[in-house]
Amino acid sequence: MKDIALILFASSGMDKAAQGLAGAARRLADQAGAPLRAIIVGKGDGIGAEAAKIADTVVVADHSELSEYQPEICLNALAQLCRELSPAAVLLSNDAYSQELAPRLAHRLGGSAAGDATEIRVHGDALQVVRQVYGGKAQAVIALKRSPAVVWVRARAFAPAAARASAGPITSATIEIKPDDRLRIVERKHEETAEARLEDARVIVAGGRGVGSREAFAAELQPFADLLGAQMAASRAACDAGWAPATWQVGQTGKKVAPDLYVAIGISGASQHMAGISEAKNIAAINTDAEAPIFKRSRFGIVGDYRKILPLLREKLVAVAK
Ligand code: FAD
Repeated sequence: MKDIALILFASSGMDKAAQGLAGAARRLADQAGAPLRAIIVGKGDGIGAEAAKIADTVVVADHSELSEYQPEICLNALAQLCRELSPAAVLLSNDAYSQELAPRLAHRLGGSAAGDATEIRVHGDALQVVRQVYGGKAQAVIALKRSPAVVWVRARAFAPAAARASAGPITSATIEIKPDDRLRIVERKHEETAEARLEDARVIVAGGRGVGSREAFAAELQPFADLLGAQMAASRAACDAGWAPATWQVGQTGKKVAPDLYVAIGISGASQHMAGISEAKNIAAINTDAEAPIFKRSRFGIVGDYRKILPLLREKLVAVAK
């Protein structure tokens, strides 16, 4: 099989998602008996050296036009680089840029695309991608027949790769970047947050419609999350009601998280919500309805009103912390 390529964005650094992606790509390359080529978009000083410990070669596309993400320009640059490398597969992470670029890159390269992969393997001459469907109740195995296979992966679902004894060479990409006036970025608004990415959180406290109000998120759930050192998340119902920011949404159309502990409060466990937490190691649920589907997937469950239960749990946590 031909080369395997992976695409990393310098702006994210070698975070957990990038490490998982690099691990997935390394193992796929080893299985295919093919070299692994890393492509870094942006100023790649630190991340280039990190990637070189895992990939056979690293090419850094450090062009001023690529320093801030612009979809058309980034797509053009990646299409040029991928045409030069001519890989059998191109792997990307599950960040917003990668999800936007992957199907378009596949189209430009005449290949095939698949997303949200939790497993990738070589099958004969083609690649197979495994992804979860029906909210994690079933798995679909997709054969990608047209090359290259452009796949964005559920990066945190993959283990990192061990650093190799000798680092691969790092080169600068020579690409021609033309300004694209079909799309003009008028304004960028960066979300102000001191917290780490939800996808990287080890403990998450999530609230649903059962929480009842925005005030209850702040007064009841937030102090509980603070005691656990957890990040906050929410179901779509809670986000749609305006009780929690849209960036907190977990699920099929929200973020896919993989914490050690996910505490679901007032969340029924609809398949679309469960699709976002299938990689959670432990789920704990608090719900008034003993028949709520969330309990079927929970390791720990408390049937009752969270307004009575959370104060008791907070008391215990404070006592334990003393
Ligand atoms: P509900 O289903 O209304 O559940 C509320 C729960 O709170 C109930 O189980 C109730 O017993 C419990 N409760 C009530 N009061 C209390 C109390 N005082 N104490 C404890 N428990 C209490 N949803 C997502 O979350 N993420 C997605 O990404 C997503 N994507 C979707 C995509 C599509 C295409 C569609 C069609 C739907 C999607 N949904 C998504 C919506 C999903 O189907 C559900 O409607 C949603 O997850 C329900 O949210 P919930 O569990 O908070 O609310």
